[in-house]
Amino acid sequence: MIPLSVPYLNGNEWKYIKECLDTNWVSSAGRYVDLFEQKIAEYTGAKYAVACVNGTAALQVSLQLAGVQQGDEVIAPTLTFIAPINAIAYNGASPVFMDADDFYNIDPVKIIRFIENETKFKDGFSYNKSSGNRISAFVPVHVWGNACWLDKLVNICAERNIAIVEDASESLGTRYTRGNFKDKHTGTIGKLGCISFNGNKIITAGGGGMILTDDDELAQKARYLTTQAKDDPIKYLHHEIGYNFRLTNVQAALGVAQLEQLPSILEKKKNIYNAYSNFFKSNLEFSIPKPPDYAKNNHWLNILKLNEYKFDEYIESLMIKLEKDQIQTRPVWKLNHLQKPFQSCQSYSIENAPSLIDHSLCLPSSTTISKQNIKYIIESIIG
Ligand SMILES: *Cc1c(COP(=O)(O)O)cnc(C)c1O
Repeated sequence: MIPLSVPYLNGNEWKYIKECLDTNWVSSAGRYVDLFEQKIAEYTGAKYAVACVNGTAALQVSLQLAGVQQGDEVIAPTLTFIAPINAIAYNGASPVFMDADDFYNIDPVKIIRFIENETKFKDGFSYNKSSGNRISAFVPVHVWGNACWLDKLVNICAERNIAIVEDASESLGTRYTRGNFKDKHTGTIGKLGCISFNGNKIITAGGGGMILTDDDELAQKARYLTTQAKDDPIKYLHHEIGYNFRLTNVQAALGVAQLEQLPSILEKKKNIYNAYSNFFKSNLEFSIPKPPDYAKNNHWLNILKLNEYKFDEYIESLMIKLEKDQIQTRPVWKLNHLQKPFQSCQSYSIENAPSLIDHSLCLPSSTTISKQNIKYIIESIIG
């Protein structure tokens, strides 16, 4: 079976993990946790990076730090893996679902329209006209490494006191090449940004996450909340309810070894994207959607798009056919505004996302995939 996405463990992983075991530093203290944070901060250009047990936990704490409270609403995409939506709910808040643009990302034009027409600004906060609830944050998710266009939104959200918490779980390595944030990495634009190091992401720590921020106070508070909110570690004094969300040294050791290989992983990912997209460039039935031209993409995962005239069930039958040929593919996520726990939440003008997901399929994109495998996959798709 050609898998959808598996890790690439070809560097110092064994060596660093062995060091953890040999020195007894296996849990949530040790040199690799600090080193991983420092290296991620250096790489992304964020002033601080705080390691967490996973990306979902990083999002949960980041939303809390951004000021999201019980009863608030948070602007979020319907088209995303469900983790950031759950993280909103863990904070007692509700998502307001937005449509997708042609990069499968949250549609910036519609958010601006929503904020301008459907919210009012009063006493320093934005409120949803229809529910009366406060809108305290906005979560752009850079899906599959595609950078969300945030140039206008950053200003509007600042004027309206809506905190931006970026979900950069899938986009480590993606940088803007144009606009106000030229040369900045995804995850470093908002008040806080989150990365995931789950096994299927561009680099992995087995499991793990990172909170990025330039704010000293927020970084300190993130560290405090993710380690049980210790106000005096010796006397067990706690002034707040904390979490046990710290990454272990073993996981961080894996993460450090992986990060060393990120440049070569990015190169391999780019080649995989080029191979798929060159082939389908002149194909009338299928295409590989172009990533945004305002950013350098990490090409974490490749998407196959069927032309619109194909009937909706075609994607399902193609998936089954490829499965028979020993090729693992996956549909795009089911839209979150249709998921059972979130059906009663507001969704705003969702028109593009349903058709996008009905016509798209995630293709095998492992860093280790061979040229022959890609050729075989393409032949199976068109055959
Ligand atoms: C993977 C992922 C997460 C969650 O990360 P975990 O480390 O698995 O908790 C969050 N958001 C998106 C978009 C993801 O793809």
